[in-house]
Amino acid sequence: MLKQASVSDLISERVNRDIGYVTIIMRRYPRFINRALRDEYLPCLSPDRKLFGNLISAKRRYKDHNGAFERVHFDERFTIDHEGMEALGRLVRVARKKDVYLVCQCQIGKHCHREMVLLLAKKLFKDSKVENPRNTYPKFLKRLKDFKKLYRETFIVKPNTAKKSKQTRAKAN
Ligand SMILES: [Zn+2]
Repeated sequence: MLKQASVSDLISERVNRDIGYVTIIMRRYPRFINRALRDEYLPCLSPDRKLFGNLISAKRRYKDHNGAFERVHFDERFTIDHEGMEALGRLVRVARKKDVYLVCQCQIGKHCHREMVLLLAKKLFKDSKVENPRNTYPKFLKRLKDFKKLYRETFIVKPNTAKKSKQTRAKAN
């Protein structure tokens, strides 16, 4: 099953590589987390630099975790690219056989992008085994069609090959 965990779960060893496949999906790697504690570091499933920077500034300024997400319109801005979608597809496959943990700094129960990644896995991948997020993300889910498009481009229509075959056809004519 695809699940979420926090950096403190890793430190306290409540979550470890013996019980599941551990992936860190943060923009900045948590320096105090030894490589041996995780299987993969996947920044492609984290917010981009600009959004992450805006969120950190808002958190510092207002000392309000969930409020900071609101202020920077996080749910309307968080996205992943083809690389992220491919990685998510791979994790969903692994999660059919064992627990896969998506790790971020945020405390469990707080607003976090890893819950949006869980939602994407649940909504986009058939037969995926995904833990329910603790929060709701209506503004994020309004954008589901954009992610469906990304899913199709990543797994069904490979945009590059489609373009290439069109060019080849044009040449043949
Ligand atoms: Zn987080």
